[in-house]
Amino acid sequence: NKNFKVVVIGGGPGGLSVSSTVSKLLGKNQVAVIEPSSTHYYQPLWTYVGGGLKDFSESSKPMGSLMPKDAEWIQDKVTKLDPDNNQVQLSNGETIGYDYLVVAAGIQINWDQVKGLKEALGKDGVTSNYSSESVQKTYPFIQDFKGGNAVFTFPNTPLKCPGAPTKITFLAEEAFRLQGVRDKTNVIYNTSLGKIFGVDHYGKVLQQLADERGIKVNFQTELLEIDSDNKEATFRNNATKESHKQPYDFLHVAPPQGPPTFIKESKLADAAGWVDVSKDTLRHNKYSNVFSLGDCSSLPTSKTAAAITGESGVLKHNLIADLKSKKAEQAVYDGYTSCPLIVGREQLILAEFSGYTGKPLETFPVDQRRITSIGQFLNKEIIPSIYWTALLDGNWTGPSGVRNALKFLRPANLS
Ligand code: FAD
Repeated sequence: NKNFKVVVIGGGPGGLSVSSTVSKLLGKNQVAVIEPSSTHYYQPLWTYVGGGLKDFSESSKPMGSLMPKDAEWIQDKVTKLDPDNNQVQLSNGETIGYDYLVVAAGIQINWDQVKGLKEALGKDGVTSNYSSESVQKTYPFIQDFKGGNAVFTFPNTPLKCPGAPTKITFLAEEAFRLQGVRDKTNVIYNTSLGKIFGVDHYGKVLQQLADERGIKVNFQTELLEIDSDNKEATFRNNATKESHKQPYDFLHVAPPQGPPTFIKESKLADAAGWVDVSKDTLRHNKYSNVFSLGDCSSLPTSKTAAAITGESGVLKHNLIADLKSKKAEQAVYDGYTSCPLIVGREQLILAEFSGYTGKPLETFPVDQRRITSIGQFLNKEIIPSIYWTALLDGNWTGPSGVRNALKFLRPANLS
């Protein structure tokens, strides 16, 4: 049995941002990162890949090239959590002990929850930007589309990047215009939610744009089943409980998602299955030597890499204070998250807000509800390099410093 001062589960942005800093601090053989995958994906790029604006190869790097050099990479997956004994079990049967545990295993995609989805995915116009394989089919299917019904879905579960299902809708609608097939096309967005976007400040602008572009938005409408032989999808209206069949020629699915099974079945889980942490300190509510961040945590903000920037700063502050046995004041997370709402090839609304209050937390001293091409440039070209070179290395904890520096330029009429 091996023991480490700090064990981090997951080599996504949550796990790497924390393990980089902590392993630099503690030196060799003190920090382990448990991560089964040999590839790390920058998933936010997948909207651009699906929209034909970025090459898939730009979204991945070998996991080994990103692992902090002072951390030990254990290439396996955790199958069991045993917080009473400060250890985790791996799929090879080994157990790994820890003084401190950081859980950052991401969200689980439950493809099986939609009947027929697994069989249909990647064939005959059915696609999803939510997997590394199917995202590569989205743009070819858009290009092949000759008109008819283009249908887009939003699941009846929590999901990562809740803006992603609308972004691909807008990008596809624009592509159909550019390809000259828009007048033969119904663009239909079926969402399980009661509005197009959770935060009204931006949602109102987005709904108006959908109306202008002739995107038909159906609320409380959940995808239940895909019959790929007949190119028909079954949806249920959860308000009226009525189901209907929708013929499709193109179908983009945002699949049902939930907490990873090994977390859900453990003592670390809250009632819904997420790692049960304080929304302020990111420390576990029962096991004080356990922390969590990112998509698998119970933090009630929207699940994005942008949120992880702020979360990682808070988590590291509090964990490092423990490691140094300092009675430091606990850092507190404000729920910062961002959803860069891509609405065209050169158009973006840079939504930034607190998922806790629903209030805007904008970096730049302008009204960020405006559609800009600069926002698109920032999100498409600049933020990816901040991610690869600064967030994963533990050196970027979000834009709050920039926001504070620019505050005095902010017109008084903006919140
Ligand atoms: P992940 O990045 O999912 O990493 C989790 C890691 O844990 C994985 O490497 C996995 O292999 C590993 N793991 C899983 N199970 C185990 C186990 N049992 N044992 C050990 N390791 C395990 N965010 C934005 O900020 N902006 C955007 O514009 C944006 N757009 C998106 C568009 C799409 C299509 C998608 C899919 C996501 C988007 N996101 C966006 C969301 C963002 O990618 C996620 O929020 C972010 O990756 C979450 O990071 P994480 O570290 O919590 O989890």
